[in-house]
Amino acid sequence: MNTETMQEYITHAVVLDVRRRGEQDKEISFLSENLGKFKAVLISGSKITSRFSPQCDVFDYVMIRGVHKNRHTVTDIITEKKYARNFSSIHMRRAFLLAHFLDKNLPDEVPDNELWRRFVRDCERGALSFSEYLSHLGYGGAHAACARCASHNLSAFSFKEQEFLCKSCSSNIPENELLLI
Ligand SMILES: [Zn+2]
Repeated sequence: MNTETMQEYITHAVVLDVRRRGEQDKEISFLSENLGKFKAVLISGSKITSRFSPQCDVFDYVMIRGVHKNRHTVTDIITEKKYARNFSSIHMRRAFLLAHFLDKNLPDEVPDNELWRRFVRDCERGALSFSEYLSHLGYGGAHAACARCASHNLSAFSFKEQEFLCKSCSSNIPENELLLI
């Protein structure tokens, strides 16, 4: 017997990732004001109002109404801002890597007000510093050394290996696995 009650909530959030789920549905990762990072299923169907934008994109600033019962389901979503437009092409790739990093590394459903405010501020201005996020998440870039040669002249963070690297040691790592810091 399922004893978990259904909980409804409303929160602002920024979309970190959108994945297809089955034929019609989507699974979306959000960084949210009230719930921290969480994943929710977006069911394509009549329950979604006409205000729902089918183009829910990474870096959309949205208001979500959702329910939680065993899993999160989005019942309504309104896109208020398209933050992706704020980033220049140079910052865009970094921003997407950061979104991916936060999606993979933040614990689920741990609200973090400071992180939320910083992320929204950076999306508003279209610029961000990885090292700020890394140190906030406990990676401590200021005292870190290259994981391969111990140099303190760091230029990158491998989010696959979760280690800092200097310029020469990071040169043969695929670009999509690196955050340049
Ligand atoms: Zn090195």
